[in-house]
Amino acid sequence: MELTFWGVRGTTPVIRKPASAFGGNTPCATVTTARGRLIVVDAGTGFHDLGRRLAAGKRRPLQMSLLITHFHLDHLQGLPFFDPLYDPSTEIVFYSAAEPDVLREHLGRLMGSPFFPVPFEATASRKEFRKIGGRRVRIGGAAVSACPLNHPQGCVAYKIEEGGASIVFATDTEHPAEGVDGWLAEFARGTSCLVCDATFTPREYAAGKQGWGHSTWQEGAKLAAAAGVRRLVLSHFNREHVDRDIRTIERLARRAFRATEAAREGRRLVF
Ligand SMILES: [Zn+2]
Ligand SMILES: [Zn+2]
Repeated sequence: MELTFWGVRGTTPVIRKPASAFGGNTPCATVTTARGRLIVVDAGTGFHDLGRRLAAGKRRPLQMSLLITHFHLDHLQGLPFFDPLYDPSTEIVFYSAAEPDVLREHLGRLMGSPFFPVPFEATASRKEFRKIGGRRVRIGGAAVSACPLNHPQGCVAYKIEEGGASIVFATDTEHPAEGVDGWLAEFARGTSCLVCDATFTPREYAAGKQGWGHSTWQEGAKLAAAAGVRRLVLSHFNREHVDRDIRTIERLARRAFRATEAAREGRRLVF
């Protein structure tokens, strides 16, 4: 499996210069399975760049699956601007934790009048809507499953497993007051790569951010150790954190859990 990041920021995109090393787009990542199936996790503003790349490429017809962790705007902002959405040769299978008709309705509202000029239902691509519940589903030779996270209005972690490797995305989650999230630790047990919410520094979190549904690098490192993961990738960076801040976060987190890195746009990891 090949993992690539297209957006690693939470809340809003960042365009100011000191945020350029890690990228300024909101969450989007791709996993390409050994069989070549394209699985996308979230459609933040990074999804726009991915769409331009796919539209310019030779991959026709484009068949892909989009796993939506939840419906907050930072994870869906790129959908209306995704070029292949308007191409009749594109096939997209949308997955979320919601019922298929609810998922479809939410995406329709996202692109509804007067917020966007083209209704979601009028876009030319072929679409399917599926729910991921408690069971594993097969996508392009990979097994995909979900686990609920602690986040306002809900969010799910996704696990993509293929050929003995696995990647877990826990993009938006708040750790319990004491210890680690036992469900998430079990879900991520022994994974090759845990992508984890590092929105706040421990100091910011302690200064009034409890209950916002996000975590810190410190809690991410604790979770990685408790779950015995092989690699921790910190992500969903705060828009206020410039490159220097993220480098500090990466350095401190490595002291707590050695195999740690900060996610950055364009970074490709192979498992
Ligand atoms: Zn988010
Ligand atoms: Zn959210």
